Amino acid sequence: MPEDGILITHPMAVHGFYRTYRTIVETILIIAFFLLPWIKIHGFSAILIDIPNRRFSLFGLQFWGHDTPMFFFVLASFALGLVFATSAWGRVWCGWACPQTVFIDAIFRKIESFVEGNHIARIRLQKSPLDKDKVIKKTVKWALFFLASSIISHTIIAYFAGAKNIASMIADSPFDNWTIFLTTSIITIIVLLNFGWFREQLCISICPYGRLQSVLMDEDSLAIMYDEKRGEPRKGTQPKTLEHGDCINCYKCVAVCPAGIDIRKGLQMECIACTACIDACDQVMATVKKPKGLIRYESEKGLKGKPAKFWRMKNILYLALVSACLIGLISYVSGRSDLDITVLRAQESPYRVISTAKGEPVISNHYTLNLKNQSFHEMEVNVTQTEESRNKGIEIVAPAYPEVIPSGKSAKNHFFIKFPKSLLNKKGQLNFQLHVAATSNQTTRNYIKELTLAGPLK
Ligand code: SF4
Ligand code: SF4
Repeated sequence: MPEDGILITHPMAVHGFYRTYRTIVETILIIAFFLLPWIKIHGFSAILIDIPNRRFSLFGLQFWGHDTPMFFFVLASFALGLVFATSAWGRVWCGWACPQTVFIDAIFRKIESFVEGNHIARIRLQKSPLDKDKVIKKTVKWALFFLASSIISHTIIAYFAGAKNIASMIADSPFDNWTIFLTTSIITIIVLLNFGWFREQLCISICPYGRLQSVLMDEDSLAIMYDEKRGEPRKGTQPKTLEHGDCINCYKCVAVCPAGIDIRKGLQMECIACTACIDACDQVMATVKKPKGLIRYESEKGLKGKPAKFWRMKNILYLALVSACLIGLISYVSGRSDLDITVLRAQESPYRVISTAKGEPVISNHYTLNLKNQSFHEMEVNVTQTEESRNKGIEIVAPAYPEVIPSGKSAKNHFFIKFPKSLLNKKGQLNFQLHVAATSNQTTRNYIKELTLAGPLK
């Protein structure tokens, strides 16, 4: 029913199979949302999106702004996963995991029922004139909504600024952290208006995913459907002498619907697949001793009595794309090290021949070494070689090393490798292993770069 020009629904509470599982899923998601910024893995928040410093921490792994492939793989996996899930199971994301549905259902509607009572009391209160009781209830409700919105917005900011930082900022004056205070206040207002007032209108009139579902779904996709063949004609719509279908026209499925629709009119864009109407109708069917499932997860084909096909071409394609993105993500993350090393031959002649007093000339190769510290700690880097190569007379001349590279910074230096000409093979080449030792956070890691040193042909 419209309130201030917005359709506010007061759905009836429902119990049943899906309600139980949705409550479990919502509880897990909400606990994860509030706890993740506080959980430390390898000394860093489980999730930290530090935009000003262009660094990101994901479950113990650290990334920088230049790790664009990783972000591409993460976003593409999520987007394609959503496309696959929609094609297979309809708006399962909306009903079970979307923050819009989860926060409204698990927090804001719970607060509303706690303060204003069940759906009948809430509707009555909404229609009643503005008296003392209404003012008290609305004030208490909006104060609790504000508290919940404030906790949610501080948690959102903790993902970007770190939970401990936010906790200490709360203790400080707002003027000490003016930008964070302003951002948190704006997010609080948006959360409050969205979850407290606008609610499912966002799903119906703004969310682009809701509009995309008709493109992604087909007659094999699962959705929440009313079995018209079984339910119609509804009780009370035919003369008493005629038989009627299983729908007793009790309107319970409409009363529990947060989107304010009647599922019996067919699949509608407004349906957020919350499953409330399934549980409501199953309860009714149990009471009238009819089989459950008059409203159920079903495909259009299933309603016509034909088997729905899960492994159809587009589902296979979507799944293949999701798998490709996940493989790309795993190989990028596993192939990434704390120190990014690029060794390039300097852009002059590939080698220099240096005459020596001993008679045998020495060959010198000039290289540039680019090092990028991708860890979140300062790193001391040194270039070394094996004892064996040193015994052969190979020498690294690297005046800049050892060098300390701050977290997230790069260093570019020149070095030379000198060796006796006699070590060259017939092609005028010598294979050499350059060792790079990086010490960070009291741990030393060794990296090896294979180089082909050049000299004159024999
Ligand atoms: S809850 Fe079931 S029986 Fe009642 S109106 Fe809805 S579909 Fe019909
Ligand atoms: S029609 Fe059913 S599943 Fe869809 S939003 Fe309403 S109650 Fe939820």
